[in-house]
Amino acid sequence: MTAPARPDVVETIAAVRGHVADARRAGQSIGLVPTMGALHEGHRSLIRRARERSGYVVVSIFVNPTQFVAGEDLDSYPRTLEADADACGRIGTDLVFAPSVEVMYRRDAVTTVQVSGLTETLCGPHRPGHFEGVTTVVSKLFNIVQPDVAFFGQKDAQQAVVLRKMVEDLDMPIEVEVCPTVREADGLAMSSRNAYLSPEQRQQAVSLFRALEGARQAIADGQRDAATLIARMRETLQSAGPCRIDYVDVVHPATLEPIDPVTCPVLIALAVRIGQSRLIDNIVVDPAMPA
Ligand code: AMP
Repeated sequence: MTAPARPDVVETIAAVRGHVADARRAGQSIGLVPTMGALHEGHRSLIRRARERSGYVVVSIFVNPTQFVAGEDLDSYPRTLEADADACGRIGTDLVFAPSVEVMYRRDAVTTVQVSGLTETLCGPHRPGHFEGVTTVVSKLFNIVQPDVAFFGQKDAQQAVVLRKMVEDLDMPIEVEVCPTVREADGLAMSSRNAYLSPEQRQQAVSLFRALEGARQAIADGQRDAATLIARMRETLQSAGPCRIDYVDVVHPATLEPIDPVTCPVLIALAVRIGQSRLIDNIVVDPAMPA
């Protein structure tokens, strides 16, 4: 089917269900791309992948307050719905679901979805309550849209692992596809939060990618000691300019348990605060792969 130039933009749960029911009656499979808007090429890559795999593509745009920790950037988070809807149309989105907070959260709601263990490492301790906000809102989106496949980015590796586990544990009949991280030409992972960086900070931010690629190279050269890899990455980050490192870790890509020495494929993940921006990035490295 040819997607309309401008997708339908709806704000209510009833409207989403109506559109999705029509698509189902027409025999189409449903793909969902959950986002917080301010769409960039990373988001667009997920939407294109959803377009490839689904008859009917739904993009949700919702700056979810419950996944922001007190003192974070909820109020200043960029909100660009008009431009986002246009961008969605250009790449073949059928429906944009852009609910208000009041539509998504009943005032008397007391139910949340929580994944334990996997949320207690990496970003978890630095953003208490964040993943509970994510799993709760994604569960709600899954219940509202009832997609066949939902698309997430490897950029948020821990989020993807947590959501996969949630889907498995709760027997949700949904496939989670994780799509590769899209980067700027110099390697910086695309993020809506990059907009907060000053020109100097933007240059400094490439240190996240450089640290990760340095670790990849070191592993290819035979380094297997995770503590040494982590120390080198910290040095790369700190020598690039003023920053606060939340964590630099080498973990199992599915269990998120620390791995040392590096004898299996590992997720190397880091979170760094530069100025007002908290940036995250990661790579997966298989020590058995030749350089
Ligand atoms: P957000 O709007 O930041 O909540 O992100 C919505 C989805 O886009 C999540 O699944 C993210 O992992 C994904 N995403 C964000 N940035 C990127 C990127 N640079 N490459 C690929 N996916 C991304």
